[in-house]
Amino acid sequence: MGLEICAVGGYNEVGKNCTAIKVDEEVVIIDLGIHLENYIKVTEGEDAQGIQSKDLAKAQAIPDLNLIKDWKDKVKAIIIGHGHLDHCGAVPFLAKQFPDAPIISSPYTLEIIKTMLHDERLRLPNPLKAVNLNSSFKISDKITAEFVYITHSIPQPYLVAIHTSHGTIMYANDFKLDAFPTMGQKTNYARLEELGKEGINALILDSLYAGTPMKTPSESTAKQMLRDVLMGSDMSKGVIIITTFSSHIARLKAIIEMGRMLKRRIVFMGRSLSRYVLAANRVDLIELPSDILLVKEREKMHKMFQKIAKDGKEKYMVVMTGHQGEPNAVLSRLAQGQFNFEIGPHDNLVFACRVIPSPQNIKNRQIIENALMNKHIRIYRDIHVSGHGAKEDHRELIHMLKPKCILPSHCLPESSKKMRELCLEMGYHKESVHILSVGDRLKLC
Ligand SMILES: [Zn+2]
Repeated sequence: MGLEICAVGGYNEVGKNCTAIKVDEEVVIIDLGIHLENYIKVTEGEDAQGIQSKDLAKAQAIPDLNLIKDWKDKVKAIIIGHGHLDHCGAVPFLAKQFPDAPIISSPYTLEIIKTMLHDERLRLPNPLKAVNLNSSFKISDKITAEFVYITHSIPQPYLVAIHTSHGTIMYANDFKLDAFPTMGQKTNYARLEELGKEGINALILDSLYAGTPMKTPSESTAKQMLRDVLMGSDMSKGVIIITTFSSHIARLKAIIEMGRMLKRRIVFMGRSLSRYVLAANRVDLIELPSDILLVKEREKMHKMFQKIAKDGKEKYMVVMTGHQGEPNAVLSRLAQGQFNFEIGPHDNLVFACRVIPSPQNIKNRQIIENALMNKHIRIYRDIHVSGHGAKEDHRELIHMLKPKCILPSHCLPESSKKMRELCLEMGYHKESVHILSVGDRLKLC
């Protein structure tokens, strides 16, 4: 009996987020994510069709549900906070272990899950339940989940409050506090303050940038940076290539807006771009004008590059996958010369992203940049702001929610320690900050 948390994935590590919360004899799972790098090692960047969940688990690409083996028959619901793959990517492989548990999330996140299932040719027995922003869902007589709208770098992200007879647990993984979002609503500050007054037992907190003493800039800053580069440089003689996160719909919307102002023909190239953009279109988050071309098959990409060369490169803006240098993505293949598309000093490449600093990404990006710089392309790096809050965002959220204890998540041990320093600075005792590692359990009462 009581309230207990199990850190199934994403604690003292970045990736495969998964938290299990046990309320007496009932369990709720929040997030079933993949560890992107480990996942790519197993699938080599292709679809996971035919790959067994046990092989993915062995490679630590998905959460190890054996860690909650003794809780398995108690799982009442699976909640997914938002549609990033490190939060929802393992749903197609793992949710079937709890066939009666509904998968509860926003309409956009569920649309992404449906697209993954379709692409991997998988089926799930679980019912899918869409919840609107700032609403609640009764899971059982003892557990109600509340979905509080917050800002991040993908549409419809929620903070999840798990209300129980033993108190409330807040799951804030991932978030930033963006007062000037370029798409969607602002964070529901009023409700967060109210929740703080009602009382929060524990806050599970995205601490990726706990060691960065700043407030993460708004997405409107990234839009301005993009405008500065695209409108403030003379790109009139060459092609404009932009690469960014496929799920960052607000950023893609800004790119479309600017492509139109520049009177360029806009082409989206790559499978994951099509996947996320079409999902956003299906749930009416963006209108996809018919003049925007989506190209996902390799053969069609060859033809498209031939057309661009024939029509005139200066007439096109091409948005493509491969911002982290992923070897199978469109940008890598372009850099390797696979499309026979000539690149020269008048052409432009905008990285609307930052390198996620793993040794593999750094190496992959360097290979691409070197290959393209040898052709004298103009490169504009780091046209980006993060979707994760930094120290001053954390301080504000903690201040609003006033949780009794804090569990750093979504970060390496150094950042967990930085989160503890912030909490001490804010007057918490060090016993109130629980730094968990994968597999650890914490009994709250
Ligand atoms: Zn995220």
